[in-house]
Amino acid sequence: MLKSKKKLNLPAKALAPAGEIYMDYASATPIDKTVISKMINVMKENFANPSALHDAGVKVKKILETTRKNVAEILNAHKDEIIFTSGATESNNLAILGIIEKFQGAFPIPHIVTTNIEHSSVLEVCKHLEKMKQAEITYVPVEKNGIVDPKKIKKAIKINTVLVSVMYANNEIGTIQPIQEIAKEIRHLKKGKDNSLPFFHTDATQAVNYLPIKVEKLGIDLMSFNSAKIYGPKGIGVLYVKRNTLIKKIIFGGNQEFNLRPGTENVVSVIGLAEALKITEKIKEKEVIRLTELRDYFIDKLMSKMPFGIKIGINGDFKNRLPNNINITIPKIPSDLLVVELSAKGIYVSEKSACKSGNKSGSYVRDTVSSFGKKSNSLRISLGRQTTKKDIDYVLNILSKILTKLKKWYN
Ligand code: PMP
Repeated sequence: MLKSKKKLNLPAKALAPAGEIYMDYASATPIDKTVISKMINVMKENFANPSALHDAGVKVKKILETTRKNVAEILNAHKDEIIFTSGATESNNLAILGIIEKFQGAFPIPHIVTTNIEHSSVLEVCKHLEKMKQAEITYVPVEKNGIVDPKKIKKAIKINTVLVSVMYANNEIGTIQPIQEIAKEIRHLKKGKDNSLPFFHTDATQAVNYLPIKVEKLGIDLMSFNSAKIYGPKGIGVLYVKRNTLIKKIIFGGNQEFNLRPGTENVVSVIGLAEALKITEKIKEKEVIRLTELRDYFIDKLMSKMPFGIKIGINGDFKNRLPNNINITIPKIPSDLLVVELSAKGIYVSEKSACKSGNKSGSYVRDTVSSFGKKSNSLRISLGRQTTKKDIDYVLNILSKILTKLKKWYN
C-alpha cells in the first residue's frame, strides 16, 4: 500500500488550502513535483525551434525525439506512431476527422460505429459529420450497466464502416469497455478481406492511470489520451496511430509530427507528459489496489450510513469500473445543489463531465444507466493519489449532515 503523499512527489497541497478535500480527479489532476522540475529544467534553456537547422534547434529536436521514443516504449509502439497534440479533444478529432477525410469519395458515404456514452469530443465530431453529410454514424447503446456489448458493435459494422470508436473507460460513470474483445470481433470480420477496414480507435483518456495501455495487446489502431489526467501539464496529448493506418491531417501548416499535426512542437509539455506517463506506469499496480479498496469502502458506507434510510443508487457497473470512480444518484435533491453545498464545506466533487457542466440538460451518460430514470441527479466523486481513508470518512460525515439539512426535499 502506498502510504505517503511525499513518496508520490505531489505538491504538498496540490490544489486546496488546508481543510479542503479534492475529489474531482476525473476532471483534472494536480501536477507531480518531479514533472514540474523536469519541465522547468528543459524550459530554462531549450527554447529553440526543433525544426531549426542550427545546433540549438538540433538539440531541442533530439530532446523531442528521445522523449517520443520513451513514450512509444511505454505503449509498446514505434516512435513514428506517436503524434503529440494539444490534448485528448484534438486527438479524438484527428482520429475521426482524419480517417473520414481519407475515405471521402471511396464510398458513397463512409460509416462510423461508436457508442452513446462517448466523450463530447467524439460525439460532437460525429454529429458534425452527420450534419455535413460526410459520414453516417451508428451509436450503439450501452447496456444498463454502462458497458457496450462487443457483439452489438460487430453487428453494427457494415461494408462502408471505416472506423469504430469506443472509449476505454467512461469519464462520468467510470465503466470500463471491453476493448480487447471488440478488437477481436473486428479482427474476425477483417479476416479474408483485402482491405484493413474498419480501423479501431479508443479514447483512453480516463484509462491511462489504471488500465493496461500496451497498444498491441489492446488490438487497437488509434488511441487518444492527454497529460492533464495523469498528473502532468494541461494542453498536451497523444494520438497513437498504428503504422499503415489510412489517415489525413485535419489542420494545415508545416510538416511536423510526421506530417499529421502541423505547428511548432510544445517540447516542454511533451517532457511533462512523458514524465507523468512514466510515473503513472510505475505506480499503477499499487494505486489500483489502494484506490479500489478506498472506492469500495466509500460505496459500502454510502449504501449503509446515510441518514433516514435514503436509498443511494450507484450508476454504472459495480465491478468493471475505474478504481477511482464513484458515481451516485441521491434521489430528489438537485445535483448542483449538492455540489455547491459540498463545496461550501471545502469538498470538491462534480455532477458530470466538466466539459458539459455549462449545459443545463443533465447528463446523457447518467440517463442511459440510472435506475432512477431520466433527469435524476448524479454526483461524480473521483479519487486520486492524495485521497486517504480519513478524507473519505470526513466526506461521508459532511454529506450525511448536508442530507439531513436538505431533508425538506424529501417531503
Ligand atoms: N476524453 C475523455 C474521456 C475525457 O475525460 C476528456 C477530458 N475531460 C477528454 C476526452 C478531453 O480532454 P482534453 O481536455 O485534453 O481535450
